[in-house]
Amino acid sequence: MTEKELGQLRKLIISTITELKKSDIYLEDATQPIAPSVALGRLTRMEAIGEKSVNEARHINVKQRLERLGNALKRMDDGSFGSCIRCGNEIPFGRLSAVPESLICVPCAEKKKR
Ligand SMILES: [Zn+2]
Repeated sequence: MTEKELGQLRKLIISTITELKKSDIYLEDATQPIAPSVALGRLTRMEAIGEKSVNEARHINVKQRLERLGNALKRMDDGSFGSCIRCGNEIPFGRLSAVPESLICVPCAEKKKR
């Protein structure tokens, strides 16, 4: 990977983290307990509870992704970013620009599934 590609990925990771942090704040709010007396407008209480559990699942995903992206930045600093943790080969730039927190290359990811 070139320095330029690495720089692009760093920017991508930082902007993804910024976006995810906004979702995190929103979801933090959307997963608060629903008071029985709350005025829900057009939503019924059952709907609000359903919505809340969807948001809780999203919130967990957002938190996991934030952690993985934070780790990816750490790996950039220590120089291990972009190498597959299983075989040590370089992970292609295309894969990293789609999923910058990738830890393993495509062949290893395929093997893992089997
Ligand atoms: Zn690999």
